[in-house]
Amino acid sequence: MKMPCQKSSELKLLVEEAKRYTKDGKVADYIPELGKANRDDLSIAIHYPDGKCISAGDIDKKITLQSISKVISLALVLMERGFQYVFERVGMEPTGDPFNSIAKLETMAPAKPLNPMINAGALVVTHMIKGDSIADRFHRLLSFIRELADDSSIGYCEQVAQSEFETADLNRALCYFLKQHHIITEDVDALLDLYTKQCAIEMNCLDLGRIGMIFAMDGMDPLNGKRIMPEDVARICKTFMVTCGMYNASGEFAIKIGIPAKSGVSGGIMGAVPGKFGIGIFGPALDEKGNSVAGIKLLELLSRNYRLSMF
Ligand code: GLU
Repeated sequence: MKMPCQKSSELKLLVEEAKRYTKDGKVADYIPELGKANRDDLSIAIHYPDGKCISAGDIDKKITLQSISKVISLALVLMERGFQYVFERVGMEPTGDPFNSIAKLETMAPAKPLNPMINAGALVVTHMIKGDSIADRFHRLLSFIRELADDSSIGYCEQVAQSEFETADLNRALCYFLKQHHIITEDVDALLDLYTKQCAIEMNCLDLGRIGMIFAMDGMDPLNGKRIMPEDVARICKTFMVTCGMYNASGEFAIKIGIPAKSGVSGGIMGAVPGKFGIGIFGPALDEKGNSVAGIKLLELLSRNYRLSMF
């Protein structure tokens, strides 16, 4: 049973301060459906291991996961395929390039994506999800996400998935490149169908914070004593969150904020403060690197006020 999330006046003050920065950002519109979001929204939920939750802002709004889903699909394939299989196909190094860049693929031999958090790497990870059909593979991922969030009502937004599928020419280009180099072996549009549905999985900040909490607790669900993923899988995912979770701003984020986090172009950020709690943020105004501009500000305030940096 989920406890209701308590409104926090302390968090509300921080949200109000961070909200001033939404005007410096822009809602992503390269996926046309995402362009409908309200630039000035900002909300946060913090989920503790004992089930307690505090929040500020409208935490009932649903957000599509977009790139946040990349950490979760990585956890799933690490469990399904094992570390060796996965890391033979995708690397462990940050790129310093934008998330959808093709540049490094062309200059690397073999053309293995540098890490699972950039689009090329995430497409390879989604390609590795086991199952007999696209529907079956999507269902496996969705069931895993429902288990992490303890919310069986989680689904995906068909309009966002469709909108991305119709306009994903850059991701198609990445897939064709990877197919030419035998890293991807399935039909490109089938893979994009699965990937765009994965990115369109939607939930509220509370669910996002709960998933962050499971990563923070090394893969254990302390509320029912169940291990959802092995400790090593959670550790690897959190390490990627630190080294490449915030696109090509991950270095600055580690210095200024210092917690494992993953952002998505919908304006979501999932944070996992090791051993302490999970954070779910929604703020659709993005900076030029694709991170929620007010979301980052909010995390900066939280990290400074409560000394959250792990470094
Ligand atoms: N679905 C988005 C894409 O592949 C995810 C990007 C992101 O959130 O960074 O372009």
